[in-house]
Amino acid sequence: MTSADLSDIRQSALGAADPLGVAAVLAEAVDSGGLADPDDAGYALTLAAEIAESRTKLDAALRYADRAVDAYKTRDDTQAGAAHALRARILFRSGRADEAMAELEPLRPLLTRYPDAAAYVTVALSVGGQNKLAEQWLTEAVQATLTERDQPADPASAEDAGQLFFLLQQRHRLRHALGLPHDTHDNLAERLETRLANAAAAGGPADDLLFWPQAEFDRLLAKWPALTESYDKNWDDHRARLERELVRLTGTGRVGLAVFPGTVDGLAGDATDAKVRAAYARQQETGTNRISWPPERNAACWCGSGNKYKKCCLPRSRG
Ligand SMILES: [Zn+2]
Ligand SMILES: [Zn+2]
Repeated sequence: MTSADLSDIRQSALGAADPLGVAAVLAEAVDSGGLADPDDAGYALTLAAEIAESRTKLDAALRYADRAVDAYKTRDDTQAGAAHALRARILFRSGRADEAMAELEPLRPLLTRYPDAAAYVTVALSVGGQNKLAEQWLTEAVQATLTERDQPADPASAEDAGQLFFLLQQRHRLRHALGLPHDTHDNLAERLETRLANAAAAGGPADDLLFWPQAEFDRLLAKWPALTESYDKNWDDHRARLERELVRLTGTGRVGLAVFPGTVDGLAGDATDAKVRAAYARQQETGTNRISWPPERNAACWCGSGNKYKKCCLPRSRG
């Protein structure tokens, strides 16, 4: 079972005829050494837990979540954080609020570190009826992110506006749900949301997560110069469009996101045809070659530039 198989299962399992059977197959693959990459164990078990949770088989969900957390025990990245948050969510649903809170408390530092952490921590707290606490945690994370900055004058010009945006967006949504009036952070959230929406509209529909590494992008445009009319004008536009799309998907609650590298040689047909590109994107999205997103702020950027994410594509999401 490859990483791509797991991605496929993630897309299809919840609609499957026997989702719990799918969850059992995932756990079995972990137990029997059936994973192509043993590092996928945590991901496979997280998936199994989500599937069981969706069928309110909470005991099974918790067993899978326990194992997922254990599989990630040597890691403190955002995937590990998501597994802990999932375990907390299942504990809340099982009426074990104290244990759920003990699981969530250590995740607070992740709120200022990983874009998707704002989403999964908030969701877990909301499941536990802890919306007010979630609002408090998000507010603290927003303030910590703002005071960390060197140039507080224009928040949208700071390098980590992307991280700030995720926090503001989650907080803004939550505060509306709580019926709280707008404060200055909410006003900033709305300005950034509008800016992002305008940038996305200007960039045309982002129909896929197909990523052209720089050398391939250059070859693509050399072969089909007309693409600059319909597609991304240059590599920076291309990276920015993908980053915005990933940010947008995270805002809808999606986790486990990735971009899928393409090659000019691999693409069959006329690349100026959007349908050809879309078909190639679907093909790549089910293949084994994927680049997980987001990286940690100080880690190498997903685009392969060699720069830190926070200095490269993270700020591009502002458009
Ligand atoms: Zn609002
Ligand atoms: Zn980059």
